[in-house]
Amino acid sequence: MSVNPTTGLPADPEHDPRASYAFEPEYVAALTDQIIATSGTGVTAYAPATGKPLAVIPQSTVEDVAEAYARARRAQQAWARTSIDDRAALLMRLHDIVLDRQDEIMDLICWESGKARKHAFDEPLHIALTARYYARTAHKHLDTERRLGVIPALTRVEVNRVPKGVVGIISPWNYPFTMALCDGLPALLAGNAVVTKPDAQTMLTALLGAQLLEEAGFPRGLWNVVAGPGRELGGPMIERSDYICFTGSTATGKIIAQQCADRLIGCSLELGGKNPILVLRDADIDKAVEGAIRACFSNAGQLCVSTERMFVADQVYDRFKEKFVAATRAMRLSAGLEWGSDMGSLISQDQLDTVTAHVDDAVAKGARVLAGGKPRPDLGPFFYEPTILEGVSPDMVCFGNETFGPVISLYRFHDEADAIARANDGEYGLNAAIYSRDVRRARVIARQVKCGTVNINEAFGATFASIDAPMGGMRESGMGRRQGGEGIHRYTETQAVASQALLRFSPQYGLDDQQYAKLMTTSLRLLNKIGRA
Ligand code: NAD
Repeated sequence: MSVNPTTGLPADPEHDPRASYAFEPEYVAALTDQIIATSGTGVTAYAPATGKPLAVIPQSTVEDVAEAYARARRAQQAWARTSIDDRAALLMRLHDIVLDRQDEIMDLICWESGKARKHAFDEPLHIALTARYYARTAHKHLDTERRLGVIPALTRVEVNRVPKGVVGIISPWNYPFTMALCDGLPALLAGNAVVTKPDAQTMLTALLGAQLLEEAGFPRGLWNVVAGPGRELGGPMIERSDYICFTGSTATGKIIAQQCADRLIGCSLELGGKNPILVLRDADIDKAVEGAIRACFSNAGQLCVSTERMFVADQVYDRFKEKFVAATRAMRLSAGLEWGSDMGSLISQDQLDTVTAHVDDAVAKGARVLAGGKPRPDLGPFFYEPTILEGVSPDMVCFGNETFGPVISLYRFHDEADAIARANDGEYGLNAAIYSRDVRRARVIARQVKCGTVNINEAFGATFASIDAPMGGMRESGMGRRQGGEGIHRYTETQAVASQALLRFSPQYGLDDQQYAKLMTTSLRLLNKIGRA
């Protein structure tokens, strides 16, 4: 295990359980001091790759949540009066800071989540892309728009985009930097303030994000962080929010949706998936293998858009399988901050237990292990090998349930229509990929796949990194979309403002009601004739 070059090593955790194995106390304090927390209690966070303590995270009370919202409301009022250009300039500054500080960001992500450095790099990259996209398209999404008025030239209609107010963001641990920030950037740009509750396991990374926002110049009070269990703080957040953005499991998403419904506030829910890849008979096999490795094993499969099911055409099945198994077996597993690892650790004992249970259940019921299939305690407490299963059947837990780990089930198909039907089987509908040399045909198939994003000749990056493209799930994978116009408009109310000149909406110039109705009928017919909408 190497040493963090930015922050230096370590107090010995054997002697002081409150000390960080990885960071100087001042470094940790500068991050955790941002949490609005007066409970006087703290929860120790551990490094998954080593099992050693990283930091004590102060915990927020319900009163702290109320304080966070009070600060957010005050800050939002002044913020909503700033210009779109001023807000966008801060996002561009954040873009530069994130690229400049990427090593520190990746170090922290690796320590806190246990993932390989190359998977950590996706996070500053995604935030830089998101910041730049929204900064550059701010006017397109937020400017007041002209719409058609009912009476040409006399009714002038404009639509304003009004900020919702205070947005509550509840985020998971799997991509702790990008999940903590990416949904908040458009919320800020649209004139909102944010109260965020990142997952308890990855608070430091989320707090570094908050620190970088402040360095970029976002005013204090605009971005407020609370810490604690979601089931305790979630309700108090929803009670005070004007909108909720939630990323996490489908089970929690349903609870959040019910609570938001009680208050009639909107929410976007980015939830789980059991994502399929289709490898068609004319696929470039090497490309499909490369994509499958990334799709299945990025962040040890703890990625919402990860693939857990692959349907491969009969004609190429054996060739694909041989190459995919060889590439999986050749993967380098290690913990640490260095480049060169192909896969890191799972984040927790809970995750290890779920992955182990899914694989053991499948094997006990007759599935074959083509690669992996075992925990690797020699590498770290929560390591599990990248695993390929064959012969998975509907009675096995991993057939339809999200594993959220490095486990892929391989299926052969003879008929494309049958493969599409099997890909659409189940309740989820987040992400899919199709490998084929015939891109036009793949696009036709994509329309039949019930997923919010479909990538062709790429696993997930083509849609996820194209920030102009809406991202989110169909069916039990979610509601609403992040990214693109959809990802910023969810944080605004549309307000129609119409001014009326000359004619009024009642009889005038001596007409009675009947004559007025006749005149209006003739006008409607005329407008239709000249092609008016
Ligand atoms: P989770 O639902 O248990 O937790 C996510 C967040 O919700 C955490 O911050 C947690 O503290 C909070 N939370 C938990 N219970 C809550 C409650 N009752 N009220 C309010 N907040 C509550 O999810 P997880 O298991 O930690 O995360 C993994 C899941 O997230 C997977 O299913 C994965 O597919 C999904 N995910 C989806 C996306 C996406 O964009 N669609 C992205 C990342 C992760």
